[in-house]
Amino acid sequence: MRKNLSDKLFERACRVIPGGVNSPVRAFRGVGLTPVFIDRAAGAHIWDIDGNEYIDYVGSWGPMILGHAHPAVVEAVRQAATKGTSFGAATENEVKLAEAVVSAFESIEKVRLVSSGTEAVMTAIRLARAFTGRDLLVKMDGCYHGHSDSMLVQAGSGVAELGLPASAGVPADLAKKTITVPYNDVQALQTVFEKYPHQIAGVIVEPIAANMGVVPPKDGYLQAIRQMCTEHKSVLIFDEVITGFRAAYGGAQSLFHISADLTCLGKIVGGGLPCAAVGGRKEIMDLLAPLGPVYQAGTLSGNPLATAASLAVLEILQKPGVYEQLELLSARLEKGLYEAARKSRTAIQINRAGSILSVFFTDKPVNNFEDVQRCSSRLFKRFFASMLQQGIYLAPSAYEAWFVSLAHTERDIDRTIQAAYNAFTDLNTNET
Ligand SMILES: *Cc1c(COP(=O)(O)O)cnc(C)c1O
Repeated sequence: MRKNLSDKLFERACRVIPGGVNSPVRAFRGVGLTPVFIDRAAGAHIWDIDGNEYIDYVGSWGPMILGHAHPAVVEAVRQAATKGTSFGAATENEVKLAEAVVSAFESIEKVRLVSSGTEAVMTAIRLARAFTGRDLLVKMDGCYHGHSDSMLVQAGSGVAELGLPASAGVPADLAKKTITVPYNDVQALQTVFEKYPHQIAGVIVEPIAANMGVVPPKDGYLQAIRQMCTEHKSVLIFDEVITGFRAAYGGAQSLFHISADLTCLGKIVGGGLPCAAVGGRKEIMDLLAPLGPVYQAGTLSGNPLATAASLAVLEILQKPGVYEQLELLSARLEKGLYEAARKSRTAIQINRAGSILSVFFTDKPVNNFEDVQRCSSRLFKRFFASMLQQGIYLAPSAYEAWFVSLAHTERDIDRTIQAAYNAFTDLNTNET
């Protein structure tokens, strides 16, 4: 693996960009390496500037469910670009995209487009607070909801990688208003509701947690949260930035038959461009300006390039067999990885929910953030390095998911399994 050009560029980057990257996990610090710089991608493959080719399981951290540079998406963006890249005014495609989201999600009656998942969540919690007239929020340890102040408490993902309970720069008075409880723990949430009667504005949760690695909800967990929120008149916010249009077309809530009051979407809904959304019950959404008193705005919201890409992606995702195909590929990957681990006598646990999965280096089940933190990060680092060497591009952090796309082929999956077998074997050999 050549790395000359990436290393040189990283040096330049570090002089002018903090840490050399525009989003912390990209820096590869979690795996003790320095980043490769990407030149281009097509389908499930990605090339760095040194010319190394990889099978990509990052997929831009989730958006690229069709794979990279899908011809229909590229053409939609190209056509949109020739008509102007931003107007700061209303367009037809925004309406079409909103209609598509409303028809995909049973619980969404109205939706507003924003430019990032962070913004979607920031807006959702502002709405929850305005709707209830309460201040407190509850989130789950290890769930990530973007980088707005209120959500940077026990936040999983890149924050977990840095070992921070909360971010510096978040006022303590504000952090106090976010209560965290373990994921998959009904009793802990119950206790919080009892301790703070009539004070909890909303509970926010990733219905399938995917920012501490993948941690699916236990049976009945989401139903219990729904019930408590209803009983205590708190707003239930599902952060489906990863699971929306991935776990199923209608998101995780369609799989578990639960209606959130507000839903945050991002990643896939943006079609690989900066676009995200917050939607939900009409009576809550209509609190937004210009109808109501909750202010929210965005120069590039509903951007024409992004809405064109989104509509192209959603159209393809509505074709029959798409989610079945993702399931087949992902199940093949899971099965193959387990076999590779068994043959090489490596203890792993795989948590998989459809086309997202995580490989944890442990022999115990992983149901919450504490379980995740008990897994071997040392083994993960070596596994990651070996996979990269072998042309498999995984997220450079033990706290992230693998994303399977429709562009992955069985051949890609089988090559990945073979590489994993080699990597596992390596771990054991060098261990002794
Ligand atoms: C990625 C992510 C976000 C933040 O989205 P950005 O577009 O990166 O701001 C929020 N919630 C979840 C569950 C995410 O995975």
